[in-house]
Amino acid sequence: TAPLLSVEGLKTQLGDASRPVTVVDGQDVHIQAGETFALLGESGCGKSMTALSLMRLLPPSGRIAAGAVRLRDTDLLRLTEAEMRRVRGGRMGMIFQEPQTSLNPVMTVGDQIAEAVRIHEGRSRAQVPERVVELLRAVGIPDPEQRVKEFPHQLSGGMKQRIMIAMALAGDPELLIADEPTTALDVTIQAQVLRLLKDLQRETGMAVLLITHDLGVVAETADRLAVMYAGHIVETASVADFFASPAHPYSRRLLQSLPAAEKRSGRLAVIPGRVPRLDTVFKGCRFADRCPAAMDICRTQAPRWLEIAGGHGARCFLWDSQAAGQGGSPAEPP
Ligand code: SF4
Ligand code: MG
Repeated sequence: TAPLLSVEGLKTQLGDASRPVTVVDGQDVHIQAGETFALLGESGCGKSMTALSLMRLLPPSGRIAAGAVRLRDTDLLRLTEAEMRRVRGGRMGMIFQEPQTSLNPVMTVGDQIAEAVRIHEGRSRAQVPERVVELLRAVGIPDPEQRVKEFPHQLSGGMKQRIMIAMALAGDPELLIADEPTTALDVTIQAQVLRLLKDLQRETGMAVLLITHDLGVVAETADRLAVMYAGHIVETASVADFFASPAHPYSRRLLQSLPAAEKRSGRLAVIPGRVPRLDTVFKGCRFADRCPAAMDICRTQAPRWLEIAGGHGARCFLWDSQAAGQGGSPAEPP
C-alpha cells in the first residue's frame, strides 16, 4: 500500500546560500500508516533537522533545497504557510524533548489544551471542556477535572510530556513526530511515556516517527528504523533484521559497542572517533575514518544506496558488487 508519509531526496541546508551547510543530504523515508518508524543516530547527525524539515519548522537560516515530502496525497512543500499550519498539530502532531519550552507558563493546562482543540477540531465551544478532560484521561492524567486548573510549573516533567501528547492528539493526527520525547525524563517515567505512546498508537491507529539516540527505545517501540550518520541515512531495516543482521559497519559498531546483556536496553555507547562536522566537504564515505572495513574506494568515492533484501538497504561499498575490482567490494558480502 502507498505510504502515509513519503520523503524523497530531502536535502536541507543551513546558513548562507553562498556557503550552505547541508545537514540532511538526499534522504528517502517511507512511513506506513500505523507503524512506529525510528530515526536513530548520535547527536549532530541531522535527525532533528529531518523532523523540522518534515514539519517545515526550520530555523530562519534553514531551507529545504531539494526533495519532496508527501503526506498521503498532500505535497507538504507546496502548501502555503497557512495550509501548513493546519496540517501541523492537525494531521501531523509533534512532541519534543523539552515539554516545558513548548508550554505557555502563564496559561493553565486546561486552557492550552482547549486552544489546541478549538484550532484543530472545529467543535462548538460547549463541547471543548469535555474534550479537554477526555484527552487528559487518554494520556493517563489522574483527576483531570482538577488538573485543568493547574499551571505547567505545578507539574512534573513526565506530566508535562503527557500534556504535550494530549495537545498533539487534539487534532487526531495520522502521524505523530516525537523528537527524543523521553530523553529529559528519568528512566521509570521514560518507560511509562513510551508505553503510553504505544497504547495510544494502538487505539488511534496513528503512525509515529520516533527520533532517538537510544537503541533500547528502538528495540522496545519501533517496527522499522533508519540509521543516520553525518546527514545521510546509512541503513534502513525492520527492527528485527537490524538487531539480527545489521548491514552497515556503523550499525554493527553501534550494536557491538553494547555489552551483550544490554543489547536491547542500552543507549548508544561511544564508538572510537567522532561524527564528522556537517560542514566538511565529503569526498568518499562519510564513515570511512571510523570504519574498520574501509577500503581504498571508500576514501575517493561516495557509496550509493543499495537494496540488500526486501525493506533492508544500506549505503556501503561492502554490498556493491559493481564496486568490485575497483578496490571495492569483496566477492562475498559480509
Ligand atoms: Fe566502511 Fe567503506 Fe562501507 Fe563506508 S563504504 S561504511 S568506509 S566499508
Ligand atoms: Mg536532536
